[in-house]
Amino acid sequence: MSRFLRNAFRSLEVYVPGEQPRDKKYIKLNTNESPFPPSPEVLDAVAKEADSLQLYSDPECTALRKTAAEQFGVRPENIFCGNGSDEVLNFAFFAFCDETRGMAFPSISYGFYPVFGDLYGLDCLPIPLRDDFSICPDDYFSLNKNIVIANPNAPTGMLLSVEQIRAILDSNPNNIVIIDEAYVDFGGKSCLPLIAEYDNLLVVQTFSKSRSLAGARLGFGFAQPPIIADLNRVKYSTNPYNINRETLAAGEAALRSQSYYDDNCRRIMENRAFTTDALTGLGFSVLPSSANFIFARHPKIGGETLYLTLKERGILVRHFSHREISDFVRITIGTLEQMQALIETIQTILS
Ligand code: PMP
Repeated sequence: MSRFLRNAFRSLEVYVPGEQPRDKKYIKLNTNESPFPPSPEVLDAVAKEADSLQLYSDPECTALRKTAAEQFGVRPENIFCGNGSDEVLNFAFFAFCDETRGMAFPSISYGFYPVFGDLYGLDCLPIPLRDDFSICPDDYFSLNKNIVIANPNAPTGMLLSVEQIRAILDSNPNNIVIIDEAYVDFGGKSCLPLIAEYDNLLVVQTFSKSRSLAGARLGFGFAQPPIIADLNRVKYSTNPYNINRETLAAGEAALRSQSYYDDNCRRIMENRAFTTDALTGLGFSVLPSSANFIFARHPKIGGETLYLTLKERGILVRHFSHREISDFVRITIGTLEQMQALIETIQTILS
């Protein structure tokens, strides 16, 4: 840290991304990426766009928003494009929270929420999960705080219904409710249709998981036009060209390859069922997941030991040291071959 850093940032606890190792080739089940490559149309679109990299990208993301609007049944004015959904979340915290209006979120959820809270000096309210690790919607009623909920939640994978979220929106009409749907394509139901009814709803989605574009960095915010305009105020005050040309092209082509990605999601869900059954057979308890990962613990081996032992054997999963979940590992669902290798390795470790 230099002596020039502003005081408020000196004690900031930054977000720690999952490992992206370069030392050797792992079966990488630690950061919820897709095991499948982008669609051939995406690869083609990206290659073609390279010719125009001397020009700035379209700050309004016109073509991408138009294609997305058609696909999602909304208007382009309902869509904000972010450099990953992390940027959409960041801009939302920046735009809608201050000293008087902090943010509430589940105490076990996406690790970036408290980091944004700290960054902006907010009064955050982490709300505990139930004993079964589910979110209790009643805990979010009439909070008088902005709210962000990952649905499905991470790292649990557990889902709230659209009706439960509607009840949260109804009871917090004067606060922004952000529903982070990073993992919604793996069996969840999106709240997107609710943006027509609720002027306080921001639905956030990403291209990093179901659409195999984690490295391209693209996310969407969906909301009524005034909220989108607010996010644009932040964007045009920080980085107008936040989405590069290659990513705009990739995103548009990805939207046009929907059946390819639907197929991939179906395979992930099948592999999730396979892995859940196999781990359960080995004595694990596995939380019911609607995401492209599962959260599992075994009565005889701690989460950290399992993570380290798997790593030694070339398989990366994610472990969190947070006390309430330190028994667990989070396992990204990969190809069937990867999941079979995981199960065989765990069998060996347990025996
Ligand atoms: N929300 C949740 C719940 C996530 O797990 C992630 C992935 N780390 C993100 C948002 C951000 O994803 P991205 O910035 O790649 O769109």
